[in-house]
This record gives sequence, structure tokens and C-alpha cells, in this order.
Amino acid sequence: MSATPPGSKRSLQSQPVPREPNCLVRKLKCIIFISILLIAGAIGLSLVLTGKPNPLDYFVPTDPPGSTEAVRWDANQGLELEVINALEDFWTPFFDRSVQEWNQSEALTIRTGRTSYDFDCNPIRGKMKVCNGDYGNTDWRGLNTIVLVHDHVEHSVAQLNDYHLPDDIQRRYTMCHEIGHGWGLPHTDTDYFNRDRGDCLDYTNSPRNNLLPGQYNLDLLVELYGTPTMPRTNPRLNNTNSGEGGLRPGGPRPPPQRPPQKEDKEDEEEDEEDRYLQTVLDPAVASAVYGGVDPNDRDTIRSYADACHREHCHFKVNNDIVIEVYKLMV
Ligand SMILES: [Zn+2]
Repeated sequence: MSATPPGSKRSLQSQPVPREPNCLVRKLKCIIFISILLIAGAIGLSLVLTGKPNPLDYFVPTDPPGSTEAVRWDANQGLELEVINALEDFWTPFFDRSVQEWNQSEALTIRTGRTSYDFDCNPIRGKMKVCNGDYGNTDWRGLNTIVLVHDHVEHSVAQLNDYHLPDDIQRRYTMCHEIGHGWGLPHTDTDYFNRDRGDCLDYTNSPRNNLLPGQYNLDLLVELYGTPTMPRTNPRLNNTNSGEGGLRPGGPRPPPQRPPQKEDKEDEEEDEEDRYLQTVLDPAVASAVYGGVDPNDRDTIRSYADACHREHCHFKVNNDIVIEVYKLMV
């Protein structure tokens, strides 16, 4: 039999069928296009839901502040503090509830006092005061202004702006937040859009997620103040220029102790006199003593609060006085 002629059916079947290159390219294009669509969709959804272009940022753990970012009242064996309610009556249930929640801290022994409604929130030495009012369209919902004299808190005034606090959840969250600052606590986190930490010093778009002090802050209070049965021991918590030493691990060692000399005794008496002056100073005299600034003058304090336009401002007024302003921004 003869060989199959070219062009016959058998000849065609034995020829390899060439792949169409266009088909592969089309598939690749398709995959790339779908990937781009998915990425764009994820970014868009993330922006809408969390305000962040990278959706993974939502889950990134925050770096909560340590105790060195806090300020302290002068207390080393637990903090016993009177908190004054200068609010309108409708705020009192929120105040009482928050005080009760903060009182869960082993470090705190909170006493409360009631005074007449004080829109201006004039400070009281050695106490925290909480006030409310329609302060207008400010850039803050809650404000805490803390004055430190010689590195320790002299007083704290917390103000709640009714203008921006329309509902109970907002009121409860803001009350807890501002009272928290009053102990000297900083913000746990100032990002509105990341995962809520569950504590009221964490900024949030969903206040109902962050209504309580939270274990993180309760633990931080123990670090800052110790407890009635366990005095504060961590040397890193000493303020660096407070005269308490400010020693840090690995830092310079203190000079060796020597027996007290006559001049030491005189210095001690002067220190004692200085402490006494701080305790009994009349505001007018204080103004002259503290470099012309009266740490108890409401107008002075307000001028610093007004000058602050972010979450936290630290004003070193002079060698004696520091003013910390914490704003829960609108
Ligand atoms: Zn705040």
C-alpha cells in the first residue's frame, strides 16, 4: 500500500494543534484585572470602615503609653483623693457610676464631695473637680486641665461640653475619660480608626465599646501609686527633676551617703519651710512666688487650655509650674 498522500485526513490528525497564544494572554490579563479590582475594593472598604488605606492597620496592636507618660499626684501608697461634683444634677448618675468604676482600682481610694454648680470650674487645691456646661462649639467634647507644682499634681479640673454630648453613651464615655485624666493617666491611644481597646482613655468612633476604665489603666494606676498595702517601688516612675532622684536602671549611681552636716540640717529646714509655704500660700502671694504665675488662678489655667488645639499639650510655665491639657477632640 502506498503512503498516505499529503492533505489526507490521517495527515491532519497527526499534526500538533498549535496553542493560541492570545488565550493565555487573555487569562493573565483577566487575573491581573480581578486582582486590581480586589485590592482597590479592599482599600475602598477599609477607608470607609476604618479610615485607613491599609486594612491590616486596623488590626495592628497599638503601643499604649507607659507610666513615664503619666503625671502623678504626690502619693506612694495608693492615691486617696477627693473628687468634687460641681455638675448639674442630670450629670450626677454618670459621675457616681464612673467614680464607682474607677474605684475598682486597688490604687485608688476615692471620696466624693458635692458643691454648687460651677460652670467656670474653678480649681480646688489637692482635689479633682468635675463640671459640665454648654461651652459652645469648641474643638473638644471633654477637657481636663492639670496643674503640676514641683512635678506633682496640684489640682485637676475636668469639663464636659454638653454642646457635643447629646446622648448617654457619649456622656458615660466622656465622664470616664476625663476622670481618668484626673488621676494623671494619659491617652491609651489617640487613633479613632483602629481596633477599640475597650478602655475609656482610648479614642474611638464607637464609645459604647470603650465605656470602662479597663484593666490596662487599673494596672497602670498601681504602677503609679502603689496600693495601701504595697507601696510604689518602681524607681523609673520617679519624676526626673522632682528631687526624688529620677534614677533609671543603668543610669548614674547616687553619690555615697555621708553623715548629716550642720549645713545639711539648715537646707532641710529650708526645704521644710518651702513645703510649708506651698501648703499655706495665699493665691496672691503664690503669684509672686511662682514666677508671676498663680497656679490656682482660673483665668491663667483657661488661657493655657485655650492655647491647646490637639489631644494633649504640655506647657512648662516656669521652673515650678507645668500645665497639662488633655482634650477629647470633636
Ligand atoms: Zn483625653
